[in-house]
Amino acid sequence: MCALADEKIQAESHVRGLKCRECGNIYPIEAVHVCEFCFGPLEVDYNYDYIAELVSREKIARGPLNIWRYRDFLPVEGDVQDFAVGLTPLVKAENLGRQLGLPNLYIKNDSVNPTWSFKDRVVAVALSKAIELGFDTIACASTGNLACSVAAQGAKAGLKTLVFIPADLEKGKVNNAAIYGPHVVAIEGNYDDVNRLCSEIADNYPWAFVNINIRPYYAEGSKTLGFETVEQLGWRTPDHVVVPIASGSLLTKIHKGFQEFKKTGLINEVKTRVSGAQAQGCGPVATAFAEDTFDIRPVKPNTIAKSLAIGNPADGYYALKVVKETGGYVEAVTDEEIVEGIRLLARTEGIFTETAGGVTIATLAKLARTGKIKPDELTVAYITGNGLKTQEAIEEALAAPSKIQPTLEAFEAVIKGGSK
Ligand SMILES: *Cc1c(COP(=O)(O)O)cnc(C)c1O
Ligand SMILES: [Zn+2]
Repeated sequence: MCALADEKIQAESHVRGLKCRECGNIYPIEAVHVCEFCFGPLEVDYNYDYIAELVSREKIARGPLNIWRYRDFLPVEGDVQDFAVGLTPLVKAENLGRQLGLPNLYIKNDSVNPTWSFKDRVVAVALSKAIELGFDTIACASTGNLACSVAAQGAKAGLKTLVFIPADLEKGKVNNAAIYGPHVVAIEGNYDDVNRLCSEIADNYPWAFVNINIRPYYAEGSKTLGFETVEQLGWRTPDHVVVPIASGSLLTKIHKGFQEFKKTGLINEVKTRVSGAQAQGCGPVATAFAEDTFDIRPVKPNTIAKSLAIGNPADGYYALKVVKETGGYVEAVTDEEIVEGIRLLARTEGIFTETAGGVTIATLAKLARTGKIKPDELTVAYITGNGLKTQEAIEEALAAPSKIQPTLEAFEAVIKGGSK
């Protein structure tokens, strides 16, 4: 009896509550995301001394082969979603590294999650928390991948599910969301319009919008990409990471993951430089970096990298702060460079990524070319989504197949014709 009561108290004490990132005001664990005093964003507040007592490298290594091996660092208390998310490959990119002059390059291939993007991580945490908080309906404002993940995990958990997307989304993403049977709402406008409308809906309906009222919990899911990187490198942090920026949340949370492993004694030091990648057609954080200001001016997105097309990034300021504090860079690349980046990764490492991955690889190449990533740095580039979802982006750039009659002569004519 006594032991049970103790356990309950302990189970609840790794999370203290929510805390405003600006004024530090404390809130209970509820479906809230904005400070009522200063309108600052709320973030989960942990008891790291307590977590340090709880965790060890060995305990994590014995854990499940998914993100829940790090659950002592995640804001959930009860049952978690039975959806195998995470523990994706960290591959040594010998071929790409040789081309870029980076002999110590790794690709974290997060395009092989259950719905083919890193969004499965954030949704797994958000959904577990939403159920814990008593919601029966889950929803999101999406640039594409989030809709796929919410729809799939919502279906598996038996929740009512609505996903809101911009009407001009790639077919691969619309189909990948619709197949799981959610209510798909396509809005005539860009992501920033979708997000604005969803905030209004969230105020009027008792639903769990994973990236609005559940956002503080949702965002924590991205830390697992940082945790996995450290564990897969043999309990060390990279020297440099390159991370795509949409809202900017992922970039800040990979860095937070590294810091939390240090705070709880799992590793000794973090010297990682964090660099951000954007498309020139939607690069408000890159522009602010180039102009050496923290004043991020919203833009109207116009790029093939639709999954990164957030013109007014909610966490852009915090992402920029991490980049500057760690000595990283933010670069923006053109649509042509994005396509070239997708092709380069495929041809060198056999990984077919979506446009966001093209942004990351093109930015990586640019940082290497300009000496901003040093050749000896252990560098990790984050590939966050799968190329099968954005096929229209590369279609025109590819050679058509050699089409022949089913005869040896026809084949040999083609082979001799110099086809490769
Ligand atoms: C959403 C998304 C990102 C960036 O996420 P933020 O946390 O909003 O910066 C990166 N890559 C892909 C493929 C995405 O879908
Ligand atoms: Zn506040």
